[in-house]
Amino acid sequence: MTTLPIRFYGDPVLTQATTEIENIDGRIAALAQTMIETMNEAPGVGLAANQVGVQKRLFVYDKGDGPYVVVNPKILETDGEWTYEEGCLSVPGLSWEITRANAVHLVGFDLDGNELDLQTDEYEGRIFQHEMDHLDGVLLIERLDADQRREAKQILRQRNLEISATDPDGLHLLLGE
Ligand SMILES: [Zn+2]
Repeated sequence: MTTLPIRFYGDPVLTQATTEIENIDGRIAALAQTMIETMNEAPGVGLAANQVGVQKRLFVYDKGDGPYVVVNPKILETDGEWTYEEGCLSVPGLSWEITRANAVHLVGFDLDGNELDLQTDEYEGRIFQHEMDHLDGVLLIERLDADQRREAKQILRQRNLEISATDPDGLHLLLGE
């Protein structure tokens, strides 16, 4: 099994937008496989390529019946609202009630280059929106209201201080804001 280290809050790769994949080749398939294994080991229900340091538009997900891979995903349409508790592998151990769209219409490609056309809602719709945010360089911290965000940043700042005090080598993973 091959896995890659997951990048944490503070790592600049998480706030940079990713670029379209031009050729869905063996390297992309190998990356997707490694991402699936990394997601399973974490464990998590979704993982975007920049969470393992690759600035490409690709995410993997598994809500229990997968895993699935989406290359160059695009959300065409959303509808309604749904509030649900949400966490992120790049912000481990924390979660918040976040309101997002409920229904999502997502298109993209699978690893064989076939077009995907997915209309879904609730939990799967949320995974899609969360992973799309990652690919656009947006962390779920940015989806919190002002009070939640202030509190979250305090917790994360404190955590980074503790890590840098006890493990100077750990600092490259958590660079702070
Ligand atoms: Zn995430």
